[in-house]
Amino acid sequence: MAEVFSQIDDYLIEVDSPERYIGQEWNQIVKDWDSTDFKICVGFPDTYEIGMSHLGLKIIYHMLNEENEFLCERVFAPWTDMEDLLKEKDIGLFSLENKRELMDFDLLGFTLQYEMSYTTILNMLDLGKIPVYSSERGKEDPFVMAGGSTVFNPEPITPFIDFFYIGEAEENLLNVVKSLKKWQEQNLNRDDILFKLAQLSGVYVPSLYETQFDGQEFSGIRPLKDSIKPEIKRQRVNNLNNAYCPTDYIVPYMEIVHNRAVIEVSRGCQRGCRFCAAGMTYRPTRERSVEKIIELADKTLASTGYDELALASLSTVDHTKIKELLDQLTERYNSSNISISLPSLRVDEFSVEMAKNVQEIRRSGLTFAPEAGTDKLRERINKGIKEEDLYKSVKAAFSYGWHRIKLYFMLGLPGETEEDLLGIANMAKNVLDIGQEIRRNTDRRMKKVEVQVNVTTFIPKPFTPFQWVKMASMEEIRDKINFLQKNLRKKGINFDWNDPEVSRLEGLVARGDRRMSEVIYHVWQQGSRLEGWNEHIYPERWFEALDKYNIEIESIIGEKSPDQPLPWDHLIAGVNKEFLKEEYRKSFLSEETPDCRWNYCSDCGVCYKPYSELCLESNQVIDNVN
Ligand code: SF4
Repeated sequence: MAEVFSQIDDYLIEVDSPERYIGQEWNQIVKDWDSTDFKICVGFPDTYEIGMSHLGLKIIYHMLNEENEFLCERVFAPWTDMEDLLKEKDIGLFSLENKRELMDFDLLGFTLQYEMSYTTILNMLDLGKIPVYSSERGKEDPFVMAGGSTVFNPEPITPFIDFFYIGEAEENLLNVVKSLKKWQEQNLNRDDILFKLAQLSGVYVPSLYETQFDGQEFSGIRPLKDSIKPEIKRQRVNNLNNAYCPTDYIVPYMEIVHNRAVIEVSRGCQRGCRFCAAGMTYRPTRERSVEKIIELADKTLASTGYDELALASLSTVDHTKIKELLDQLTERYNSSNISISLPSLRVDEFSVEMAKNVQEIRRSGLTFAPEAGTDKLRERINKGIKEEDLYKSVKAAFSYGWHRIKLYFMLGLPGETEEDLLGIANMAKNVLDIGQEIRRNTDRRMKKVEVQVNVTTFIPKPFTPFQWVKMASMEEIRDKINFLQKNLRKKGINFDWNDPEVSRLEGLVARGDRRMSEVIYHVWQQGSRLEGWNEHIYPERWFEALDKYNIEIESIIGEKSPDQPLPWDHLIAGVNKEFLKEEYRKSFLSEETPDCRWNYCSDCGVCYKPYSELCLESNQVIDNVN
């Protein structure tokens, strides 16, 4: 079908934020539709302003468009008013560049970032006129692929996705897409292509595997044919300096969540927090050199015109040359009024010092994540910071002129007691006291001190040492929230929390097996989508569906034995199961596992040799994952 935009452009004035749907932004890439052989659309299952802030999407869009044989366009989830308009005019959800319906593409790839976005994927497929179940797709339908950070347990959405790409895109995704194009040109049928895709590194074709159950308990997954690999290994970039990195980002017309230039300064983190899925699945740490970061920053700022540069990573101040990098960047951009931001800070004075050197202090608050209320519980989760570290950090922050501090904690961590909850309350009060004392004694003008405390429910995620832990019930979490509400009543302290019911759903999807796909389908059929938005989430639909399909919640988020099969056992994320088990065991003893960059190797299985120097100094990790 031809472009569809002309059929609705007169009506766009009636929908909220029409800029979400018009494309034509600065740096957008529009190739000729008819003369390009293979057409790809990358989809983000949330609105434009969320999806356009995602770095992975920018990388894939530009990387695929560098190839002359491909055309790569974007699509985001429409808001409900636009969905109504599409349905009223009988127009399929369309891409932003050539304004083609999703059914017209050869490949549609979704970025998975959040478990509660899965009903939106179904909605986008349906709106794009593509059958929701992969088993119902035929020769004329696009292949539907998914990848991203929640792909390490893909099982709950396996019936809707033709194939998953597991791991980092830069080194192997092109090979996968080129192979798909070649087999399509050879006119192979859909099943044969899927079978061939399943032979490629990092590709998981779920229809070629079957799952087994023992009553309610998941008991295993195996390939349907001997020629299909039993395990799928995560793909990763070995040298970040050589990895593809676009510098000509699309600049949106509307305000988006992160509207700035972003350079990924490092990838991965080896601090080993036992609750952190990203810290386990993105190992080892790989850094970009200072020279490379500056080269990328210069080009990105020039091509986008942004006046803010964010240095992104899981823990930016852990970059081994962070001081040198910030010194060079501030000297370089000082005269051009370009601000530099550090989105992730450690709890220590050094981090505050680094933030002070680059950030306009009064513009925003400083955020720290102690995660738990006492040293004891932090030892158990391997978050190696002491209460004293936090007080030193906030003292430095208040002394430099910040007046607002945000503190993040998790509730329901394994082994948490009332003492830990009291610890959260005491910490917040102590931080407030430190700030007020500095304000009383300072000669300069300082605004009233504010402490913001945010708590979320801990979700024991796949590929973490806590993947076997039972998730706390909603009642337990609500009691903890009530306790904190009472104990945090003090002028100057604000307290906020995430809805524990939504976290429970997130836990069910994060740890779910294939049975959850029926629940997701049912919830979508009831009208759910855009569930990352409070106004669009209806938890009762999920609980109804769990009942309807007779799925016991405990069979998914209850306690597991470390010897029990798990729905994601067929994926190899890098860290091995023995390491996770050992970390789980050590958590009961509150035994520390130090960061392997500066200490001994804890043999997590990611590196070629058990020497931590390999991760950073050579920056040439030999890939035993492939
Ligand atoms: S293999 Fe050793 S050095 Fe490499 S990331 Fe794992 S613990 Fe660290």
